[in-house]
Amino acid sequence: MKRDNKDNSMDKIISLCKRRGFIFPSSEIYGGLSNSWDFGPLGTEMKNNIKNRWWKKFVHDRSDIIGMDSSIIINPKVWQASGHTDGFSDPLVECRKCHTRFRADHLIGEEAWQKIEDKSPQEKKEEIKRISPQCPSCQEKDSFTEPKKFNLMLKTFLGPVEDKTDPVFLRPETAQGIFINFKNILDSSRRSIPFGIAQIGKAFRNEITPGNYIFRTREFEQMEIEYFIPQPEKDEDWQRYFQEWKREMINWIEDLGISYSDEIKELDVPSKDLAHYSKKTIDFEYEFPFGTKELYGLAYRTDFDLKNHEEKSKENMKYRDSKTEKEYWPHVIEPTFGVERSLLAALVSAYKEEKVKDETRIVMKFPSWLAPIKVAFLPLVKNKKEIKEKSIEIYNSFKEKLPADYDDSGAIGRRYRRQDEIGTPFCVTIDFETIDNNKVTVRERDTMKQESVDVDILHEYLKERIN
Ligand code: ATP
Repeated sequence: MKRDNKDNSMDKIISLCKRRGFIFPSSEIYGGLSNSWDFGPLGTEMKNNIKNRWWKKFVHDRSDIIGMDSSIIINPKVWQASGHTDGFSDPLVECRKCHTRFRADHLIGEEAWQKIEDKSPQEKKEEIKRISPQCPSCQEKDSFTEPKKFNLMLKTFLGPVEDKTDPVFLRPETAQGIFINFKNILDSSRRSIPFGIAQIGKAFRNEITPGNYIFRTREFEQMEIEYFIPQPEKDEDWQRYFQEWKREMINWIEDLGISYSDEIKELDVPSKDLAHYSKKTIDFEYEFPFGTKELYGLAYRTDFDLKNHEEKSKENMKYRDSKTEKEYWPHVIEPTFGVERSLLAALVSAYKEEKVKDETRIVMKFPSWLAPIKVAFLPLVKNKKEIKEKSIEIYNSFKEKLPADYDDSGAIGRRYRRQDEIGTPFCVTIDFETIDNNKVTVRERDTMKQESVDVDILHEYLKERIN
């Protein structure tokens, strides 16, 4: 990977995102809330671009996938059936001196953790003592309690009386909302296997060690597909679909402006580390400035979920093949994508510093579909009434066609830099020529090449180049 300024690129991106209105620390006027972030005007545009593109690619453009939107709070029995109540936990240790809590695997490193994961609590404690990590908060050594399982689901209560014996949970994934509606969707949409159900929505996890900006937060959005396939008779039957989904995910990653060969590492999750429902998982890891970490996952969930929901709910969750009359629980391939991690990886990949003459220009080289603003209108001479009026007239006529910006403050070079910094693919300058012969100058962000274009064909011109 050829990323420049790797060590401090994260600080630069965080500062740019705050300064230009992509991402703000949440509740800042009250001192913030740790690891919570709010998305500003540009960050919101980008998140919407990601979700809309994903929905178009995987739902609208395909005839075998349909969408849905389930509740965030659902019957807690769902989480028992899915295994989250008992199994959705991380190992937690506490520093005896400052009482800060950490994930044991993060503290001693995942490799070291994997070696002791299945050992007794005493053996784990001894190994952690042997490694003797320093507390990241108070720097004390040898101060950790033995690791305990900590459930990541966020608990809350429904109704006016807080009944601690009957909590509900904010969903830790969107997938279960799909499984519990499998029959409703099947009956109402009359689909036949193979087909998929897609959902985009919030998920919540009480992460022990959130951090790395928007990489690991307690509230985030997922885009998930549960793709239902026939009951496999041999491994190749599900592997075929798995490979197809792998290719789809690679296409999506490339579409985000990420180089698959340079920036992504595929991790074939070893069987002892697989989630309880999975027979095979690939993590697509991205080379973030703070380390190579999971961007997306692709899992073969077998028939685990539908089978368990049938067992626990006593409702028939099987699919009936109309040709063979056979009834079975379909198996599931699950590609899962985090919205914030998509945005973060896209920001990191797009961030470039280039020398132009004696200056450094910061430019976000987003693919044009992802850029929050597609075109900016810049009057070349701002104190000439007719040029300003013409500029505003053109800008107003474009606003409803494309996300557009208008800027008449400061020297033209500075205005170009401002647009480069937020990744605007095209800047259009308006000058006396526009008044005389209806021509504007279009400047392309990456090459900085300029071209004269007639206002009458400007929309077509931009449409052709924004994809
Ligand atoms: P990790 O190993 O990083 O904790 P995970 O394996 O638990 O992630 P999944 O359960 O597979 O993650 O969740 C699906 C996707 O949701 C992830 O690939 C990621 O893009 C996103 N995601 C998961 N947890 C978080 C989080 N705390 N903050 C932001 N995005 C997340």
